[in-house]
Amino acid sequence: MPGTISIQQAPSRDETLARMRAKLSAIVPDVELQVQADYAYQINLLKRELNAVILGHNYMEPALFHSVPDYVGDSLELSRISAETDADIIIFCGVKFMAETAKILNPEKTVLIPSMRAGCSLATGITVEDVRMLRAQYPGAPVVSYVNTYADVKAESDYCCTSGNAAGVVRHLLSKGHKHIIFLPDEFLAHNTAKEAGIPFVRASKDGAQPLPEKAIIGWNARCEVHELFTPKDVEDVRTQFPDVMIIAHPEVSPEVLAKCDAAGSTKQMVEYVKKTKADRYLLLTECSMGDNIAAENPDKEMLRLCSHRCPHMAQITLEDTLASLKKVQYKIELPSDIIEKARLPIDRMLEIR
Ligand code: SF4
Repeated sequence: MPGTISIQQAPSRDETLARMRAKLSAIVPDVELQVQADYAYQINLLKRELNAVILGHNYMEPALFHSVPDYVGDSLELSRISAETDADIIIFCGVKFMAETAKILNPEKTVLIPSMRAGCSLATGITVEDVRMLRAQYPGAPVVSYVNTYADVKAESDYCCTSGNAAGVVRHLLSKGHKHIIFLPDEFLAHNTAKEAGIPFVRASKDGAQPLPEKAIIGWNARCEVHELFTPKDVEDVRTQFPDVMIIAHPEVSPEVLAKCDAAGSTKQMVEYVKKTKADRYLLLTECSMGDNIAAENPDKEMLRLCSHRCPHMAQITLEDTLASLKKVQYKIELPSDIIEKARLPIDRMLEIR
């Protein structure tokens, strides 16, 4: 991302502000940019001193996203990068399960998250006990856990996946002869992935095993509290007003919403769709900051700015807290060594599937 590198390498606070204005003045109020530029400049100085690398998820607010990360992307891209970095400190500007994944891949490194309040409704929507119960209900079925889970749940799983490679992981397991796959914890992603893979979706129940067709994805009941808010009517209303709009949704939206969209994809795939689309205008059904960040990168295309769904967990990560994180070397991600060892296997298996 050339714009990000350019701001990061600014030689002074004033130059940092000038470059942030050039990139973000249409998106972030100037009074806010003036404060944020100060934090960004300090962070970029300190980061080099400490040999730290900053990973920024696509859902970070625009001033942070464009000014301090060394790498930006979705969970899968950032997992791959964190597995290869030679920095001493990794600061994960994202939510806790992402920082945990970086720690699992780099147990010897210091991994920091700027705020311990950055959770996720999907990660808290499944427990180790739930996974064990499902394994008992469906003996022999491999467990695929979305990367949006905590380390102890990953440690109970056979494979991890992200929204970008979920169908690939499922197809890989089907090709190995598995007929039933437990896919946790996002009900909508599991359902949408089943559709993409061409097999039925069955929702699990705590009351006991459900009857299964010959092949099936067995899903759980957790949902992303942001993406579940989009409705089919939202899509219909936009199309009535803007018949030529291209609508791209994240696969954590419901199957009913997805069926009305033009394309679906992970945050990385959304970035690529927007770059390639010839449509005059587009709409993203995902977290609002993601839309802002894509709009800043594609000023020649019109993004409909109708978003009102900001993730309260991602919003916990600010430039101010990122600076404090570097200065105080806080908050360290610590995980038991046996959990790290067990959780590494499903992540490595995922990373091997290209
Ligand atoms: S956007 Fe949804 S899936 Fe992502 S961190 Fe927020 S609650 Fe979790």
